[in-house]
Amino acid sequence: MIFNKVNYRSLFNQSCALCRLQSAEISGLCEDCHADLPWLLLGCPICGLPRLSPDHPCTHCQQKIFKFDQTEAPLEYRFPINSLIPGIKYQRRIQTLGWLGELLTHHLQDRCETWPDLLLPVPMHPIDEALRGFNQAGLLAEILSRNLQICCDSAQLRKIRRTGKQMTLNASARQQNLKGAFSIQGPLPHRVALIDDIMTTGGTADEIAGLLKLGGVSHVQVWVLARTPEPDLD
Ligand SMILES: [Zn+2]
Ligand SMILES: [Zn+2]
Repeated sequence: MIFNKVNYRSLFNQSCALCRLQSAEISGLCEDCHADLPWLLLGCPICGLPRLSPDHPCTHCQQKIFKFDQTEAPLEYRFPINSLIPGIKYQRRIQTLGWLGELLTHHLQDRCETWPDLLLPVPMHPIDEALRGFNQAGLLAEILSRNLQICCDSAQLRKIRRTGKQMTLNASARQQNLKGAFSIQGPLPHRVALIDDIMTTGGTADEIAGLLKLGGVSHVQVWVLARTPEPDLD
């Protein structure tokens, strides 16, 4: 009898994707795990960098160094996010993207005032995508497109040159490394959101935003799951 009862409950109550102990209440997580995530409560409105005071751009953005206009990031790239996102990429734990995509959807529904006309996932070079078997930014963009009913196109923005690991380069070498790495195809709408898993220095989003603006886009948002908190990485 008890066995039947437990089975019956499990049909309706999905367990939390993190602790697997309590039932999932919000974005696939239990209330405790959801509350314990490293939420990015106050971020620079332009680059999302975690800050102490809201509404004012960070010192980098006061100098208008980025070509994108706005960043939405619900989380800081700290534990456990800094092990969960590499787990998606390198251990193929793709199911993690499911609840993180729901979490980003809820964040955008709460926070976003200007909706884009098109979602563009940050592309991987075709060789790198073939080696990994998927592009996590593309899968995330598909979840957001379905949830928010905004068109997503992974063919209009392409990576045409392999750039290697950005992490090993300093700021100016990173910028140089990205020059000419991307191309855009066909006409683009005025408002676009670039989708990626994390923003570290903002260099990739900046390079692509410059290209999109040359191609006629007037407003570029960057939507990521998490933003790195270390300002000196810029
Ligand atoms: Zn939990
Ligand atoms: Zn900023």
